[in-house]
Amino acid sequence: MTDTIFTKIINKEIPAEILYEDDIALAFSDINPQAPIHFLVIPKKPIVTINDIESEDKATVGHLYWVAAQIAKQKGFAQDGYRAVMNCNEDGGQTVYHIHLHVLAGKALGWPPYQERLK
Ligand code: 5GP
Repeated sequence: MTDTIFTKIINKEIPAEILYEDDIALAFSDINPQAPIHFLVIPKKPIVTINDIESEDKATVGHLYWVAAQIAKQKGFAQDGYRAVMNCNEDGGQTVYHIHLHVLAGKALGWPPYQERLK
């Protein structure tokens, strides 16, 4: 597959505000925040979309949610709440083809989370 900008962030070839890192995952602030707190949790393995998650990746994807919760507790917004979502492909609004959990917090978020978008 072609590397994305997230591979460069994993390899520290471009800067990011890193919040957490281990062998499996990396969390960093989103460059274009959509809420007072907005960061991404990504696997180091470059899985392209949700559709490309293999059976062997299930623990990795679960780990992304665990990392999100650890950061939420550490930053003190776990009890107030947050949203953790992944976009998939064009209709889902995915723009970077390396799966990533968006974690949004810091205000009461609206539901549903989308606006209509022209293709
Ligand atoms: P998607 O639209 O694929 O669900 O989300 C991609 C996210 O990656 C967007 O929220 C966008 O702001 C973020 N993003 C794209 N390029 C960069 C970058 O170079 N650095 C950081 N920190 N975030 C990025």
